[in-house]
Amino acid sequence: MSLAPIYDVAIVGGGPAGAAAGAQLSKAGKRVIILEKEAFPRFSIGESLLPCGNDLLREIGVWEKLENAGFLRKYGAEFCTGDGSRLQRFWFGQNMGTSHEYSYQVERAHFDQLLLDHARSQGCEVHEQTRVETIDHQTAESMTLQCAGLNGAITIKTRWIIDASGRSAFSGGKIGLHRRSTQKSRRVAIFGHFEGVFRNGGKAEGHITIARFAKGWFWLIPLAGGRTSVGVVLPSKDAGISSGRGLEEIFQEAVDSNDEVRTRLHGAKIMAPLRATGDYSWKFSRFATPRILLTGDAAGFVDPIFSSGVMLALKSAVLAAEYIVRASDSDRSLTRWECFSYTREVTGWMQQYSQIIRSFYDRAGFEVFMNPSPFLQIPGSIGRLLGGNTHPGFLDRLRLAVFHFICTLQRFVRMAPPIHSLR
Ligand SMILES: Cc1cc2nc3c(=O)[nH]c(=O)nc-3n(C[C@H](O)[C@H](O)[C@H](O)COP(=O)(O)OP(=O)(O)OC[C@H]3O[C@@H](n4cnc5c(N)ncnc54)[C@H](O)[C@@H]3O)c2cc1C
Repeated sequence: MSLAPIYDVAIVGGGPAGAAAGAQLSKAGKRVIILEKEAFPRFSIGESLLPCGNDLLREIGVWEKLENAGFLRKYGAEFCTGDGSRLQRFWFGQNMGTSHEYSYQVERAHFDQLLLDHARSQGCEVHEQTRVETIDHQTAESMTLQCAGLNGAITIKTRWIIDASGRSAFSGGKIGLHRRSTQKSRRVAIFGHFEGVFRNGGKAEGHITIARFAKGWFWLIPLAGGRTSVGVVLPSKDAGISSGRGLEEIFQEAVDSNDEVRTRLHGAKIMAPLRATGDYSWKFSRFATPRILLTGDAAGFVDPIFSSGVMLALKSAVLAAEYIVRASDSDRSLTRWECFSYTREVTGWMQQYSQIIRSFYDRAGFEVFMNPSPFLQIPGSIGRLLGGNTHPGFLDRLRLAVFHFICTLQRFVRMAPPIHSLR
């Protein structure tokens, strides 16, 4: 066992949140260690980025590297019905101007490696294959983390902890935070990489396609080099994994029952066995204590339908780093007000998505979503949210409120044409 010198900040997890927080803190002159249980590059799901995330990638100083990494540009998103009867396409440039005209579709193994290497280049000490197991000896000024590394146990002494451990949510339970579900029923996502999937032409080649059907939805994310990430999200009770059905069987059944997806996948070849993960939205009651801040998925998980996860992870990480720098420069812990204010800000971003996610899963809401009133300029407001704008102005908030009101009305009065395949 070794006892390392005291670090300013120990970060649990080297995904996008951990790497972004590490880069920011190192730039600010803090002594930072990132502890990551896997060896990078490692597979991760969550490949579609949002243009508002570009600002954060610029802020942490990795944007140039990303621009030169050969990822496929994503100029927008399209939503369709599984039977192909409806299509609604959004272009980021039309709604957010040329500064946010595109983002990227990324293979996460490569993207996460790029971010973690960037954190290293900014001065972070990174230990891969090092799992953090417990938090001990918490005093007002410091804590110790017990880790299992490649060469045995390691003890890390630190003044601050950033939990960036993703959905495994390392610290929340350990420090007694209450975990709240923000979704009624459990879902499962089954996904894989394919070659030979149909692609749009021109600038729409990089669009993510979301195909909604009665039971769930598909994503099709085109990646550089001809690969496409394809996944289906289903209610867990309908998927039948627990009753012994194989992933291939469940996936194929969903493909076969959706003409549009079946046509796009015709002749495509799967590159590796399908994978599955639970997809259940929840969040902790608080995201900060005086010395521990929760970032990204470790604070809470937002349904992935609008591809907001990586952007929210980067955004919360950059904010957490700001809070730590401010407090540690004055040689103090976070005040109760700061803990509250960090939680409130990050929760607010998540909530921007929660309401529109509910509309997407609700049949009536989706019917309106596929026919938003151009007269009220609602598509522009939705488009900006889809681009990652978590701070809508007054008019956007008003238009989104009208949109949600129309979604509720649609249940009783026909405001938008019905979509029969969803019934
Ligand atoms: C089905 C699905 C589809 C998605 N699609 C998208 C999408 O298209 N676009 C998008 O933006 N987001 C998407 N997401 C969400 C996205 O994957 C996450 O929001 C994002 O990866 C969060 O980043 P993070 O850094 O918080 O966590 P992660 O990326 O999960 O990184 C956490 C890291 O912590 C490490 N770790 C965990 N526990 C420990 C420990 N005890 N000790 C040391 N290391 C540890 C892990 O190995 C991991 O590397 C999707 C999610 C799902 C489930």
